Amino acid sequence: MSTQTGSEGEPVKLISVEESFLIPEIIDELKRLAGGVPSMKSGPIAGPFMPRLLDIGAGRIAEMDADGVDIQVLAVSAPGVQKFDPETGLSLARRANDRLHQAIAEFPDRFAGLAVAPPQAAAEAAKELERAITVLGLNGLVINSHTNDKYLDDEKFWPLLEAAEALNVPVYLHPREPGAGLEKTLMAMTGFTVGWGYAVETGTHALRMIAAGVFERFPNLQIVLGHLGETLPFLLDRIDNRYPFEVGVTGIKPLPKKPSEYFRSNFTVSTSGMNFPAPLRAAIDILGADRIMFAADYPMEDQRAVVQDYNAIELTPEERRQISELTARRVFSID
Ligand code: MN
Repeated sequence: MSTQTGSEGEPVKLISVEESFLIPEIIDELKRLAGGVPSMKSGPIAGPFMPRLLDIGAGRIAEMDADGVDIQVLAVSAPGVQKFDPETGLSLARRANDRLHQAIAEFPDRFAGLAVAPPQAAAEAAKELERAITVLGLNGLVINSHTNDKYLDDEKFWPLLEAAEALNVPVYLHPREPGAGLEKTLMAMTGFTVGWGYAVETGTHALRMIAAGVFERFPNLQIVLGHLGETLPFLLDRIDNRYPFEVGVTGIKPLPKKPSEYFRSNFTVSTSGMNFPAPLRAAIDILGADRIMFAADYPMEDQRAVVQDYNAIELTPEERRQISELTARRVFSID
């Protein structure tokens, strides 16, 4: 368990909000689609992560105990069900959501979870999200960036966003391998796909949503970005500064608010993969600790090392309590 304390000396729980799992049926389908050839593009169908991805029971809890994580917010690993045909995606989403519900029921104080739903079947996905929240008690929705190279600025996906807003649950916009428009440029740099390509893919996705007026249409929709906001917090001032100029040149009708205003009111970020002192301090200065949550990115990252790195970062007791626990409780409605 976490040994950190807050300003009054009360224990602070460590909630970790971007934690992956898989079910065997999804692995089988990913393998079938990939022709059995594992790659960054095929999804996590092989490799050292597999046993941990498949364990949403006692083994995972034991690691959380040993590493100092109180609660994991679980989500199906990228690319989720977004590569499948609509029917397969929907049926595998229902299975994964049911399985997640069972795991949380077994360890209600240790797990929370995000529903998965296929954006390629938006109306049906919206119904499945409603079931996952109202019947299964899940805490949000995960979307692994693009769906067949389309992004959430495309109105065909908006029934799913409308449902998330109406149900008052956040959408965790998680990276996956870059879509076709970016792939050629980014995938050519072997070794940099995750560290840079995922940020460009997912950060661009978030900006497309802002640019398309998604948050004018759904003003209460809340999006979560990992990796301290996929570099966007560090660029907000520049984006605000150049946006009116660029829009003025092209004659496009500008958004009613500055781009950063949507980011500040509709986005929360997690520290997944970014538990480093300088960028975390910058994110606190830019967004405030109440827009930041801890995440380990288990099992892709070494959970124990991440917790140790995070605990070693200098934070005020208030900041630590906020980032470790309180922001996550608010965003994901965790009691
Ligand atoms: Mn992740």
